[in-house]
Amino acid sequence: NLSDKLDKAFHILKGHGKITEVNVAETLKEVRRALLDADVNFKIAKDFTTKVKEKAIGQDVLTTLQPGQLLVKLVKDELTELMGGDVAGINLSGNPTVILMAGLQGSGKTTFSGKLANYLLTKKNKKPLLVACDIYRPAAIQQLYVVGDSIGVEVYSEPENKNPVEIAQNAIKHAKANGFNVVIVDTAGRLAVDAEMMDEIERVHKAIQPQETLFVVDAMTGQDAVNTAKTFNERLNFDGVILTKLDGDTRGGAAISIKSVVNKPIKFVGTGEKMDAIDVFYPIRMAERILGMGDVVSLVERAQEQFDEEEARKIQKKIAKNEFGFDDFLSQIQQVKKMGNMKDLVGMIPGASKAMKDVEIEDDAFKHIEAIIHSMTPIERSKPALIDVKRKARIAKGSGTKIEQVNQLMKQFDQMSKMMKMMQGPGGKNLMKMMGG
Ligand code: GDP
Ligand code: MG
Repeated sequence: NLSDKLDKAFHILKGHGKITEVNVAETLKEVRRALLDADVNFKIAKDFTTKVKEKAIGQDVLTTLQPGQLLVKLVKDELTELMGGDVAGINLSGNPTVILMAGLQGSGKTTFSGKLANYLLTKKNKKPLLVACDIYRPAAIQQLYVVGDSIGVEVYSEPENKNPVEIAQNAIKHAKANGFNVVIVDTAGRLAVDAEMMDEIERVHKAIQPQETLFVVDAMTGQDAVNTAKTFNERLNFDGVILTKLDGDTRGGAAISIKSVVNKPIKFVGTGEKMDAIDVFYPIRMAERILGMGDVVSLVERAQEQFDEEEARKIQKKIAKNEFGFDDFLSQIQQVKKMGNMKDLVGMIPGASKAMKDVEIEDDAFKHIEAIIHSMTPIERSKPALIDVKRKARIAKGSGTKIEQVNQLMKQFDQMSKMMKMMQGPGGKNLMKMMGG
């Protein structure tokens, strides 16, 4: 899928110690290919990479300390922008607010009508009414009743009436008389764009003047989704897009193309068949999802913010003089902890959130380590070599840990000290620099 492809693209960058103009061009070519494979329209994908490239050159990516990071950030920002930038809210100012659903048959209108009603009821404290305007199939009305029942929302229908305009108008009257403040009108769709359907939805639209006309589209339909969106927009000038069925294989491509072609915001996404499978659409989160990179950028930003340069210099000196001890180790842990709790941090590392999904992470993963170090005497902390079996047993007892845990920490400390010494060497300079030292 797209995420894997983009992972590969960024992998090209990661594999190179030094990033050249050629790498950047190569990576962006891969990014473009990945976008195309995800059904992003050719011109949009091309414009996208051209824009990123221009920005990369403008910002002198190649001369920065972390060109890879910066390029990733540029791609993410640009992708976010392409999908609308900010979160697009839903207009609930009407009394009642009338919301009209439009889209092809099977796109998920009825399901989404229920999800939206449930969302407005439970999250926005509204009293919604669902309206059955799909008059062609008796089963369609029945389906809306099942949905309404499951979330405790009233459904308005007129099974004998074959005029959806009238039904919608009567429903609004009913809502006004009975204290409903949101009216969600579910309509009929066809399997493909068809003149009769378009005329009908346009008539309903004109008659009820909805505050929100939402175009519902199946994210799996790729390039077709874009063409359908275009047709509906020409007729209805809709207010927003609902992208459904985003729970399967990520087809982020539809989100990108639709937004660029009709220039209307994506407001919600559907991520499953259940009534709570609805999410507000956040362009930035979608960009992250498409890029499959967690929130690596904020992680880097946070690390740079929190890293105390003074402290880093002091530690570097100590390592050089072979004086790095447990007190320093403790202060390093404090630095890491300042960045946030472990769960959050792991969530920000690309791939890690996926890989560690099922692993229970303690909120305070350093608790034992800190307890062990606190149980050491000052002399033990500065000269760890002194810590023999007897001392280990005492430390374990004092910190309420097991002797294996003390051993494990000693080993970790040893490895870390060795690594730090290596970083002091000629090849390590950049690594220390990267860490903010
Ligand atoms: P309509 O013809 O536009 O009213 O579409 P429906 O609401 O009847 O949905 C068509 C099918 O898609 C149904 O089987 C729904 O359960 C399913 N569906 C709708 N939204 C989603 C979604 O977000 N994820 C998944 N996996 N299925 C969905
Ligand atoms: Mg339906």
